[in-house]
Amino acid sequence: MSILHVVSISGGKDSAATAILALETQPRESLRFVMADTGNEHESTLEYVEYMQRHLGIHIQILRADFSEEVVRFRDYVRDHWPRKGVPPADCERAIAALVPTGNPFLDLCIWKGRFPSRKAQFCTEFLKTKPLVEYQLSLIDSGQCEAVWSWQGVRIDESYSRRIRLQGTGACVRAFDVAGGGVYNYRPILRWTADDCFEAHRLVGLEPNPLYRQGMSRVGCMPCINANKDEVLEISKRFPRHIDRLEMWEARVSAASKRQEASFFPDPNRDAHLNKRGIRNVVAWSQTQRGGQVTDWIRVHEEPKACESAYGLCE
Ligand code: SF4
Repeated sequence: MSILHVVSISGGKDSAATAILALETQPRESLRFVMADTGNEHESTLEYVEYMQRHLGIHIQILRADFSEEVVRFRDYVRDHWPRKGVPPADCERAIAALVPTGNPFLDLCIWKGRFPSRKAQFCTEFLKTKPLVEYQLSLIDSGQCEAVWSWQGVRIDESYSRRIRLQGTGACVRAFDVAGGGVYNYRPILRWTADDCFEAHRLVGLEPNPLYRQGMSRVGCMPCINANKDEVLEISKRFPRHIDRLEMWEARVSAASKRQEASFFPDPNRDAHLNKRGIRNVVAWSQTQRGGQVTDWIRVHEEPKACESAYGLCE
């Protein structure tokens, strides 16, 4: 049976280590590298993916989901149905004006859904990463380029508690390989690796890690991820204020397209406290506080970001 090995690249250390392992163990002609560009990537990550291609001598195909049709279809729905549902004409016009595709997958997905994803409704992963990747993999089989696809996924069980539970269950076994269906098999070769193991793989082939790891980021990928914690939000606001400005614009656009006229990238962190407003600026203000969210931590707010700061000891 002819097999193609499709390695998903995110720009992070785990997927880079997986790519290095695939290059070490599989014939080059059987390898395909893909990256799902969510439209919410840091420019350094996109540059890093270019660098990876040059350094490893590979081609990374960029996959971008397109929600133009969904946005336009929803605009037609708003025009035809909202007035009959009693939505005031001014609100209908506001939403119709906002329901225009931007060409950015993350933003268009949120405009279409009328909200941002959340921990409980993490639809971004499914629509922006999983679906484009599965479609690509099935197209390899449908077009006769192979009979089966091994989908190489750079996930590690020590990365997060929820991932450990999902992949390891009771701890009796670890699902490193399973059948996804339609001729596609999931393969997770670095499940038991540590973060250090991943950086060691980089060193073995002389590949620099994504520079964001030396700028205080413990994870790279979306900038920011909806799951970013308080410290990450503070670090991002100090190092990359442009991305906070962008999120503020995105919030205005998605709010205008939504019936509730309200959409925030992060949930309200302080529902009961004085920062009882939604929106990225309030989340940044909250990230500047000490535990409890009441008192601003002026030392951390005014502390200059270090030239090199890594949660993984890369600056030592
Ligand atoms: S990295 Fe975070 S924001 Fe981006 S798709 Fe994944 S869960 Fe969503």
